[in-house]
Amino acid sequence: MRDEARNRSEDIKVLEFSPAVELLLDAEGRCAGAILYNLETKEYYIVKAKAVVMATGGFGRLHIQGFPTTNHYGATADGIVMAYRAGVKMKDLDSTQYHPTGVVYPEQNVGLLITEKVRGLGSQLINIDGEEFCFPLEPRDIESSCIIKECLEKGKGIMTPIGRVGVWLDSPMIEALHGEGTVRKELPAKYIQFKRYGIDISKEPMLVYPTLHYQNGGLQINANGETTVPGLYSAGEVTGGVHGRNRLMGNSLLDILVFGRRAGMNAAEYIKAGKGQKAKGKLTLEHVEKFEKELKAAGVKEPVVGPMILPEYTPDHVKERRWVETA
Ligand SMILES: Cc1cc2nc3c(=O)[nH]c(=O)nc-3n(C[C@H](O)[C@H](O)[C@H](O)COP(=O)(O)OP(=O)(O)OC[C@H]3O[C@@H](n4cnc5c(N)ncnc54)[C@H](O)[C@@H]3O)c2cc1C
Repeated sequence: MRDEARNRSEDIKVLEFSPAVELLLDAEGRCAGAILYNLETKEYYIVKAKAVVMATGGFGRLHIQGFPTTNHYGATADGIVMAYRAGVKMKDLDSTQYHPTGVVYPEQNVGLLITEKVRGLGSQLINIDGEEFCFPLEPRDIESSCIIKECLEKGKGIMTPIGRVGVWLDSPMIEALHGEGTVRKELPAKYIQFKRYGIDISKEPMLVYPTLHYQNGGLQINANGETTVPGLYSAGEVTGGVHGRNRLMGNSLLDILVFGRRAGMNAAEYIKAGKGQKAKGKLTLEHVEKFEKELKAAGVKEPVVGPMILPEYTPDHVKERRWVETA
């Protein structure tokens, strides 16, 4: 899709390194564009649009409850922040999926996902006493809560040198069950990922703990990919509702392709029907002012900067950019 967009650069303009930081509404409350922030020049752009499709992905990089994450650096809930201020209804926002087997050691790999295939091939989860404590093929939520309880309630986890806790995922069992060389053949990427740090997972088990993986809730959409704000469509992980408050593995094609197509087609229909044309009156950020008043009324003095764009791993990162209207 990216190649296709680039091939059609006369019709489709791509603005790199310029994330959206606020949605714009028209006088009738319809979504009519967005403000973008150029990360290189630090300029703001106003982009007018007849319809907008929000597809900013999940929120793993918020590190909810201090968990590591499998997500890329862009997964900072920007879409939720912008849509919430614009008045979009949210759904199941308190629900998040933890992948049971995220890496705990070595430190360079913390949070990275160890595929379910490892347990599918016969690996078991083992505590510090060498005991199996959970059937290895439970759904993600059950598997994750078993591991957390084993470590935090029963104290049967294994500590890493810098004080993280985890349980063993006994990958050598795969070799015992299926023969020598199976780990390397079936799990080449994981094998290399650990070998780089001197760990041979065909001979030594991996240390794992749940990692923040998927945002279950998000922008409420209907079957057409419409949000509750006219002119704003949405698809992908930023939305809530396709799979409810929980999720089995592997349904993102539904989120992305089925609802992406629907959102795109319906946004185009909306424009063709003339609903998004000639925004009535000026474009406005009144919804942001309203949101700030609500914050003040609630006694929130130093709000976290949002949208965050990139996670705050360096303390000075966000100081340069506060709210849009102070720029
Ligand atoms: C390691 C890993 C393995 C996975 N494996 C599977 C699997 O096997 N099967 C499965 O079904 N699902 C899997 N998932 C889940 C699935 O990959 C995601 O749910 C899916 O990719 C989300 O797609 P998306 O298009 O909604 O968001 P993303 O792919 O996250 O894309 C969102 C894009 O929006 C950009 N963005 C964010 N904020 C802004 C902003 N303010 N302005 C402009 N752009 C912005 C981001 O930089 C990013 O490019 C996996 C996820 C991970 C992390």
